[in-house]
Amino acid sequence: METNATRMCALLVGLPDVSVLAVEDRAGRPMRVHVETTAATAACLACGTRAWSKDRSSVVLTDLPAFGRASELVWHKRRWYCPDRDCEVVTFTERDARIAPARARMTDRAGRWVTGQVGLAGRTVAEVARDLGSDWHTVMDAVMAYGIPLVDDPARIGEVTALGLDETLFKRSGRWRTQNWCTSIVDVASPSQLLDVVEGRSAKAPTDWLEARTDAWRDRVAWGVLDLSGPYRKTYTDALPAAVQVADPFHVVKLANTRLDECRRRVQNETLGHRGHRDDPLYRSRRLLTKGHERLDDKGNEKLLGFLEAGDPRGEVRMCWHAKETIRQLYAIDAPDEAATFIDELIADMTEPDHPPEVRSLGRTLKTWRAQILAWHRAKVSNGPTEATNNLIKRIKRIGFGFRRFDHYRIRVLLYCGRPNWDLLATITPR
Ligand SMILES: [Zn+2]
Repeated sequence: METNATRMCALLVGLPDVSVLAVEDRAGRPMRVHVETTAATAACLACGTRAWSKDRSSVVLTDLPAFGRASELVWHKRRWYCPDRDCEVVTFTERDARIAPARARMTDRAGRWVTGQVGLAGRTVAEVARDLGSDWHTVMDAVMAYGIPLVDDPARIGEVTALGLDETLFKRSGRWRTQNWCTSIVDVASPSQLLDVVEGRSAKAPTDWLEARTDAWRDRVAWGVLDLSGPYRKTYTDALPAAVQVADPFHVVKLANTRLDECRRRVQNETLGHRGHRDDPLYRSRRLLTKGHERLDDKGNEKLLGFLEAGDPRGEVRMCWHAKETIRQLYAIDAPDEAATFIDELIADMTEPDHPPEVRSLGRTLKTWRAQILAWHRAKVSNGPTEATNNLIKRIKRIGFGFRRFDHYRIRVLLYCGRPNWDLLATITPR
């Protein structure tokens, strides 16, 4: 007979059609609430025949904390058997998705809660696991089960007119700290959105991803933003041939800075016969060199000139610095035809044979990517928003202390940066 106390217990536990058998207090460990369902009958899963009750087996599920304490739900599941001798099913265990999905180690309500904590609030899996008194894998498994349908919701990816591809370091692994790269696929039009991440930084994975979209979706992409990398150029050429390729200004200037740095190190080596030392004038100039000219005050400028005077006898570093600053000026030009004249003069000047090799190399790069670099003046889109997304990804990685598995990484960054529809969290079916 149901007493007032058992009714109150069931009310507190808050699960449908469940009665509370016992509450177990365990010092220093999660409190355990033993329950069984009130279901008295069941139909066979295969043939629908009314099943006979056999015995019970219990599962321990991580649940939400109750009254400030970590707690577990011990579900004493009824086991049934099918009396129909022709049926393939002999015995089966009670299921109730309202309590927990089949084979889950966490209750349904806890699974939805941890997905929001990790995916929306960006908390670490370890932190959330500590709150629940459970282990890392139980939480991560639940985030995957509820997160995958949120991320794979077809409505998450809308129409895109400007797409960006960008490489991201996703982990370092093994004895030699091998770098593992992935490619971020981003809607770079404002407001930007991380659409997906795929493994590697070759052409294949993003090409496959684009080819999985509909023709109509691909046709709408007018701009394809990329760093100065051959693989992504191939992706766009193969999968989005009608999209205009745009070289990301950030990467163009970054490359100019890389060449400048190479030039400085080479000159240093040639004039001093060793690598940079903190007292060497060129080594001391390295930060001033890569700073934008307009960001140097008079004192900084004077310092830079002094360092170059002392350490750059043939004026090579100076010339490379000048080349970098001139490339930056390209982006201050507004009119596309003026920009075209400017870059052609720049290419002609920089590729002259008496210039330092780093300057000539830059000139050749400008020549190779001329069309993509100039396209920016018409598109005015960049991977800038991609960089913002990358910053979010970096935060995820910092708090997630390194992902071993790519699929875990993908779900976490997409839940956090991919704008899933969080209104669906309460109703999605876990996988
Ligand atoms: Zn049956």
